[in-house]
Amino acid sequence: MTTLHQLSLLEVRDRLAKGEVRVEEVTRACLAQIERTEPRINALLSRRDDAALEEAKKMDHQGPDPSRPLWGVPFTLKDSICTKDMPTTAASRMLENFTPCYDAFVVKRLREAGAVILGKTNMDEFAMGSSTEFSAFGPSKNPWDITRTPGGSSGGSAASVAACQCFASLASDTGGSIRQPAAFCGCVGLKPTYGRVSRYGGIALASSLDQIGPLSRTVEDCALVLSVIAGHDPRDATSSPLPADDYMAALKAGKDLKGIRIGLPGEFLAQGLSGEVEDACREALDLAQQLGAEIVPVSLPLTHLATAAYYIILMAEASSNLARFDGVHFGCRAEGVQGLEELYTHTRSKAFGEEVKRRIILGTYVLSSGYYDAYYKKAAQVRRLIQRDFEEVFKQCELVCGPVSPLTAWHLGEEDQDPLSLYLRDVYTLPVNLAGLPGLSLPLRLGAQSCMPTALQLIGRPFDEATLLSAAHVLLAALPRLSLPPAAV
Ligand code: GLN
Repeated sequence: MTTLHQLSLLEVRDRLAKGEVRVEEVTRACLAQIERTEPRINALLSRRDDAALEEAKKMDHQGPDPSRPLWGVPFTLKDSICTKDMPTTAASRMLENFTPCYDAFVVKRLREAGAVILGKTNMDEFAMGSSTEFSAFGPSKNPWDITRTPGGSSGGSAASVAACQCFASLASDTGGSIRQPAAFCGCVGLKPTYGRVSRYGGIALASSLDQIGPLSRTVEDCALVLSVIAGHDPRDATSSPLPADDYMAALKAGKDLKGIRIGLPGEFLAQGLSGEVEDACREALDLAQQLGAEIVPVSLPLTHLATAAYYIILMAEASSNLARFDGVHFGCRAEGVQGLEELYTHTRSKAFGEEVKRRIILGTYVLSSGYYDAYYKKAAQVRRLIQRDFEEVFKQCELVCGPVSPLTAWHLGEEDQDPLSLYLRDVYTLPVNLAGLPGLSLPLRLGAQSCMPTALQLIGRPFDEATLLSAAHVLLAALPRLSLPPAAV
């Protein structure tokens, strides 16, 4: 029997709206599930149980509000998204005691839509990583197998959605941090087009790549959350003035995949892709064909340069964004120092983790005079060429597909000594950020070897989340349904 916390967002929302269930009941069900699962999965960095219950009771007292599409629905948020009544640490000692004085744009939108925020989720420090093992507060665990990573950097958000602690979560994706954890935990994760969702109040990693987006258990839920958070925000200069489409209407209209051409880049089925992921992706594409889609072989010839270009651009932008953490403005401040320079060096040496320091040092290096042309400028040129390749490919198809990650979730501790091999595993998600496109992670069956969830990535044309979501919805509905992970039941 499906219990309250295991319903989809849409299901629970409809029950709440009809008054069949109270907000307090739903909130209590999620809080009980958090109590049950947290000792094993460590998805959350902070909670607000009492405040959430207070809010819930107040909402019940006022009664359902049909103008608020998320009325009474519990959410979690990645801890790099600013919230005025909760700490926002980006999983770093640097911001351990930091509580922002304002809500991020997306948080304001969620609250206005009636969402109940339960807590903030674990992540890699400042969103640098792919496994949550770079969190200063200990890794999260995968609800499918707690000896494995839930992915990263938004591993806490994916684990909390997969373990039914909440109905959806918001996270950020700079190079795959929504899609890869969604893939590892069997959830749906969407990185919207660059500019579709405001990053105002999101702690910046690499400003030309960062996007905020939803993680949920179904495509419909993802579409509903996107429709709440998408739209223009004058406080984010990169936010697009283009009006958002009606994603829920697009989903209702999509019955099959007739007329949809899905490009399959040969380069995405390259060396390093595990057999179990490839098999599951090919099966899903066969099914897409049966549903009327046409699979078109295409080429993205610069895929092998994406990782190098991404990490140069990311480190350059991160070194500059993280300069603000100087011991004066926010969070941690070293004590017993003599002079300003010592304040900077002691604070930053003490409060940043290894991976963050590595990226700041490399970023500063690639931006220094004499190396700027050789590294940063070259990477920016490669990025433009990758964008152009996508533009060409999208003349032949509406969507592009591929794996999300070459592997399923690996064991915790497996890669912590070797950052380079971790970077190389981002090969399928990075090009999407470099080109600013929308990308969605669609959960497929468990892999034959690892018995962990596999996933297909669908990539859309800029600002065409409607087609992306509607095709993903049709395909997911036709696929065998993934059960709930062992830690969720
Ligand atoms: N794994 C990538 C990195 O470490 C992606 C991070 C992200 O999207 N925030 O940079």
